[in-house]
Amino acid sequence: FVNNIEEFFAFCKDNEVEFVDFRFTDIKGAWHHITYRLGAIDEGMLENGIPFDGSSVDAWQPIEKSDMILKPDVPTAFLDPFTADPTIVVICDVFDIYKGQPYEKCPRSIAKKALQYMKEQGIADEAYFGPENEFFIFDNVRIWTGINRSGYEVDSDEGEWSYDKNYEDMPNIGHRPGTKGGYFPTMPTDSMVDLRAEMMQVMEEIGLEVVLGHHEVAQAQGEIGIKFGNLIEAADNVQKYKYVVKMVAHLNGKTATFMPKPLYGDNGNGMHVHQSLWKDGKNLFYKEGEYGNLSETALHYLGGVFKHAHAVASLTNATTNSYKRLIPGFEAPSILTYSSQNRSAACRIPYGAGEMATRIETRFPDSSACPYLAFSALLMAGIDGIKNKYEPVGPMDIDLFELTLDEIREKNIPQMPHTLREGLEALIKDHDFLQPVFTELFVDTYQHYKFETQVWPDEARPTAFEFSSTYS
Ligand code: GLU
Ligand code: MG
Ligand code: MG
Repeated sequence: FVNNIEEFFAFCKDNEVEFVDFRFTDIKGAWHHITYRLGAIDEGMLENGIPFDGSSVDAWQPIEKSDMILKPDVPTAFLDPFTADPTIVVICDVFDIYKGQPYEKCPRSIAKKALQYMKEQGIADEAYFGPENEFFIFDNVRIWTGINRSGYEVDSDEGEWSYDKNYEDMPNIGHRPGTKGGYFPTMPTDSMVDLRAEMMQVMEEIGLEVVLGHHEVAQAQGEIGIKFGNLIEAADNVQKYKYVVKMVAHLNGKTATFMPKPLYGDNGNGMHVHQSLWKDGKNLFYKEGEYGNLSETALHYLGGVFKHAHAVASLTNATTNSYKRLIPGFEAPSILTYSSQNRSAACRIPYGAGEMATRIETRFPDSSACPYLAFSALLMAGIDGIKNKYEPVGPMDIDLFELTLDEIREKNIPQMPHTLREGLEALIKDHDFLQPVFTELFVDTYQHYKFETQVWPDEARPTAFEFSSTYS
């Protein structure tokens, strides 16, 4: 919507903007914000940065070195569709004032470094990423909203809890998808049509190019497809996409979750990531007539992703819950191989894509990852693969879910890690490929943070299942 600071202020004036909302992403992928009155913002602040407390963000700065700066990326500005008063959002990078450079724990700055590295190494001049974030919509018994987007007040008294009129609790009329039955009968089995439509409209309003929306395989699961972009755009888009899905659900009395495996026994939520590298206007992943029309460069890229998959997984599958999704039988992969059309492999090659659209789809990532870190890790692994000419195992055009554990062991077929701990232990040993983009300090901070906030708390807790499975 705006290209520079001058246009920014003109845009604010035209739209009677009152507030400027500066946003940045932490290492677990959460979006944070700080809101200024427009009148308090001048050109200098947009150029030089906005101060904030870096010690209050998980795993960032110690209290005695807490002053950090947000550097607004002005062309990312968009109007927040959910605020009562006109508010413009600007996505920011975090700047380290002590070192006078981008902060080494800022995921968005890491992503910029990864792109820069790819160009400097002469590998490619553009990296395209097309993430597909799936989600569940669950019932919220009660919600609080002051207003709702459609313009009418729900229960206007601030602070009051109320039902939303759009989605009043319905009696159970039996039109429910069963396990794996969501993909994709029409209404009334699909009860999320209007909700997805509203999400798609709002996404368009804030500048996402929406292509399609559909019910996903699991009960109450959905997906909306948006156009791919370069590494930074694609990661920014994930943040916007999640914000809209969660907010529209919330304003309709529902709650949305991107949790990788919320329901036992049904499909989980993936964040498949389509990727291709381009140079001089040419798709480096395309070679006509080869398997899946894939070039050697594409295979080497994939070879790198698979070679480092365990370390990469700690960044692309960033929670203990992630690994409950990566089991056979639910369209999520556990075997590290590639295959055309095959939704049981870690990498699917979309069938019949021409020169422009040939790409790989890595299927293991999920939305518990910070998108900037996830895409950067995939890219760095791929670059390492191209440099060292690593070969991926495959293609394996069979239903990999049919493989028995014995076969996997006998044939030594490489698998994804089974736990976040395995992924993190791999990262500790295997992170040279991430450097110099991810610094030693970052890797160390990240693995400690994930052990402390994910692995240990999870390992320490007895689960409901253990009450039935433990003979004692
Ligand atoms: N929900 C599946 C997953 O966990 C993917 C389904 C699909 O192919 O879109 O990855
Ligand atoms: Mg899907
Ligand atoms: Mg997909």
